[in-house]
Amino acid sequence: MAEPIDVELLPDGAELGADDVVVGGVSLRSLAETYGTPLFVYDEATLRSRCAEAASAFDDGVAFASKSFLCGAMARVALEEGLCLDVATGGELDLALRAGVPASRIIMHGNNKSASELATAIDAGVHRVVVDNFDEIDRLGQLVGAGATLDCLVRITPGVEAHTHEFVRTGQEDSKFGFSVAAGDARRAIDSLRALSGVRVHGVHSHIGSQIFELDGFREAMAIVADFTRDDGFDELCVGGGLGVAYVAGERAPSITQWADSLRASAAAHGVAPGVRLTAEPGRAIVAQAALTVYRTGTRKRAATRTYLAVDGGMSDNPRPVLYGSGYEAFDVARPLAERPQAVRLVGKHCESGDVIIDEAWLPAATQSGDLVATPVTGAYGYAMASNYNRVPRPAVVFVRDGAARVVLRRETFEDLARLEA
Ligand SMILES: *Cc1c(COP(=O)(O)O)cnc(C)c1O
Repeated sequence: MAEPIDVELLPDGAELGADDVVVGGVSLRSLAETYGTPLFVYDEATLRSRCAEAASAFDDGVAFASKSFLCGAMARVALEEGLCLDVATGGELDLALRAGVPASRIIMHGNNKSASELATAIDAGVHRVVVDNFDEIDRLGQLVGAGATLDCLVRITPGVEAHTHEFVRTGQEDSKFGFSVAAGDARRAIDSLRALSGVRVHGVHSHIGSQIFELDGFREAMAIVADFTRDDGFDELCVGGGLGVAYVAGERAPSITQWADSLRASAAAHGVAPGVRLTAEPGRAIVAQAALTVYRTGTRKRAATRTYLAVDGGMSDNPRPVLYGSGYEAFDVARPLAERPQAVRLVGKHCESGDVIIDEAWLPAATQSGDLVATPVTGAYGYAMASNYNRVPRPAVVFVRDGAARVVLRRETFEDLARLEA
């Protein structure tokens, strides 16, 4: 590969200059200078535009899947742009509430919600609890029996195999999530919930997986959901998240609007009444392309068959290549328009051979140790999955907008890392 980086992979409105890249009106070189590296840079306009697109493409109740990237600033952006927040643990729920998201805009997920997580969600008065399994129904029975009410969706597994990595496939029969339609569990779950006083079952929820490019799987799931709920009189069907995004040049993903339109058409074709709310929970499609990670390169090693170029982060700030074999691209921040004839294996600083960011990264011939290299499309499941492996502090996160930058998560310090020592 020799072409310069495809600007389509960068946040909206990013500009590739002769010796710098500008995102949200701010120079990446100046950001690296001011805040250090590795650094997550999110373009706030891109975040807002994807949130607003989801809010208008789906019906009220559509949520941002917070697990893909959650911090107070992001929670508020999603809320301000008209989305609910989907949380799946007590920790995510706590952060959302602390950030000022009203409980009435929060959807509680999870395949193993503890009694205390459920009680907190119900006491707070969340918008929906998405009920996952029979043990949870037992727990809910005890909680709502005490007088509380509950609005819920029932998570079903439609039996659809999404075309994606098996670790992020969730709609198939053999899954830890949800009630099987085929085995009759989904029907039994709806009946038991309806038998509990104080519980309103609004509809069903399905989520067939993540990083899905083909809309067929979603349509297939919608057809099953529509047939299954034909006589239930539900007022909401939620299709979950899972819309894919392009990570490398040449990949093309449907837009959130195309995804929603195709689901609406499928719902209508299968007899879902127009008044039924069609909702979703995109995560990756909202945040992935809005961010990039800026690293400083360090050591360079010429081995027999390849060159290794190490950056000052690695699997601790982006575990996706290790977990899923995901591909990324890289560019030299000071040479974004240069051709990229130099192939290197871009690796991190962790003590694992598997600590690879990009197996074969293409960089300009002049790129050397000490330069700034950035990887685009790191906004989803990067910071969210970041760890302190090797006691590496987590990077800072900045939002850029209209020429200004603000830190939304400060860089971790060694003191932060030491704070749990008893
Ligand atoms: C992970 C998840 C999502 C978001 O998935 P994306 O692929 O990031 O859109 C939505 N809903 C549920 C239930 C999930 O588990």
